[in-house]
Amino acid sequence: MKKLLLLGGGHAHVHVLKSLVDAPLRDVEITLISPYARQVYSGMLPGWVAGHYTINECVIPLSPLAKKAGAIFHQSAADGIDLQRNIVHCTDGSKILFDVLAIDTGPVANLDMIPGAQDNAIAIRPIESFIDSIAKIKSQVEVRRSTHIAFIGAGAGGVELALAMRHTFGNRVEITLISAENTLPGKVGERLVRHLQARGVNLIPNETAARVAPGAVLLESARVVSADIIIIATGTAAAAWPRDAGLTTDARGFIAVNDFLQSTSHPHVFAAGDCATMMNFARPKSGVYAVRAGPPLAENLRRFIRGEPLKSYRPQKRSLYLVSTGDKYAIASWGNVAIEGEWVWRWKDKIDCGFMAKYALS
Ligand SMILES: Cc1cc2nc3c(=O)[nH]c(=O)nc-3n(C[C@H](O)[C@H](O)[C@H](O)COP(=O)(O)OP(=O)(O)OC[C@H]3O[C@@H](n4cnc5c(N)ncnc54)[C@H](O)[C@@H]3O)c2cc1C
Repeated sequence: MKKLLLLGGGHAHVHVLKSLVDAPLRDVEITLISPYARQVYSGMLPGWVAGHYTINECVIPLSPLAKKAGAIFHQSAADGIDLQRNIVHCTDGSKILFDVLAIDTGPVANLDMIPGAQDNAIAIRPIESFIDSIAKIKSQVEVRRSTHIAFIGAGAGGVELALAMRHTFGNRVEITLISAENTLPGKVGERLVRHLQARGVNLIPNETAARVAPGAVLLESARVVSADIIIIATGTAAAAWPRDAGLTTDARGFIAVNDFLQSTSHPHVFAAGDCATMMNFARPKSGVYAVRAGPPLAENLRRFIRGEPLKSYRPQKRSLYLVSTGDKYAIASWGNVAIEGEWVWRWKDKIDCGFMAKYALS
């Protein structure tokens, strides 16, 4: 019996599992390793913070999905791979053997790039830890007359979370967004600035955070931003263990894969989502591309196991971004075109809930 090991329950792997529910793989022992028994759908996380969804509406239950797919669910996190002996080492001390390995473990928080951030700030990844932090932030806001929340990083995730907090906490919080550069796609940036201003969110553009101290962000310009809660929403980084294991990576440490989503150095290892970089196609790290990689990954894992030729995959050049502004209003962007309205939020809600419904198990 061949052993297929799925590492991480990310967006591409939930599709692989669903495809195994629909068409089981015979004579293959499948294992899913994930540190949590559920996968949080980040696209709906700001909607949860804003109070539009319950947390259960934003998660895919991994353990039952794995069970239905005929896979063993092993709750732990990988911290090393022995590519000579084909063993994944986990943080709980377990060692899991594989013949074929697929990795969809996402990115990690980039806390090391700002001195002091590790001790004095909250990161939005891992998302499960951030969910715990939100509960603490809520109780802090409830007991104080005013709480100042500063975000470092104004990408789509940071902006959406800031606007969701404004919606849920109202004027009990002051919110500041510190942004080194414009990281928002297409024309969405200009529109979001308008929405941030209209909702009284302070935007400090073109300023880089040099250090995080207890209760303060020190900017490179020597300006000091005092804040009760500091949230790091800067770009993400690659985990160290894939490179340490000897997998070829890109310059930033993300697993280098070919057009089959197969490691460029180890053909029996596949990777998809934010943890991987398709070397022939430069695309942003985003949930949209991680979701899209699911079907070609599922197909090529089957083909590889059966010894059939693999099928190449070319990710789309552009993708639709839907950014919510906290109050059931959203902006859609496609390349240079942007539109907004309450109907755009309803559209986003329909897409998100439709995505989740695919993985709801009866
Ligand atoms: C607030 C927020 C909103 C966002 N909104 C959008 C959006 O609207 N559209 C969009 O395109 N993108 C959005 N993103 C970005 C999106 O979340 C990521 O691009 C996406 O999650 C990447 O998917 P993935 O499958 O690669 O990884 P992930 O979704 O991070 O999944 C990785 C999985 O692997 C598990 N894992 C991690 N480490 C290990 C390990 N060592 N061993 C085993 N398992 C491990 C994790 O627990 C997780 O289950 C948003 C991000 C945030 C933070």
